[in-house]
Amino acid sequence: MTIIELFPWLLAIASGILAVPILRSMGLASTWAVCSAIAIVVEVRLMFLVASRHILEVLGKRRMDRGRAAAIKRKYHSLDWAKQSRSGGVVFYGCMVCGNFLSANVRKPTHCACGNIKLCGATSMPEIRDQERVRVFSEG
Ligand SMILES: [Zn+2]
Repeated sequence: MTIIELFPWLLAIASGILAVPILRSMGLASTWAVCSAIAIVVEVRLMFLVASRHILEVLGKRRMDRGRAAAIKRKYHSLDWAKQSRSGGVVFYGCMVCGNFLSANVRKPTHCACGNIKLCGATSMPEIRDQERVRVFSEG
């Protein structure tokens, strides 16, 4: 376990430990103070769990919204357009087999996960095995 994983427990236990003298000073018997402190530990831990799930949901939703916004801005083109286009605009190749996206502006040879699209560098044309399963698009 890392310190990040232990942090919620440390926070909950520290809250319980701090609660005991406060509850005792308020006139609670030590048995009730300890029972209340245990309840506080459980409550703090549950609150942290609910809050962290909510934060993760919000972050995941924002990431999905950004992905959708980027997809809306895409302009799809034919493969011939990409071969003729030397405008310097950013062109991407999307492999519909493995789902990888490759920028046409690469300096080192690269390929998608399944090898359907191979790019040998900025000046050379892509080698595409199955042209029916490739999407070409630009952004903007
Ligand atoms: Zn692929």
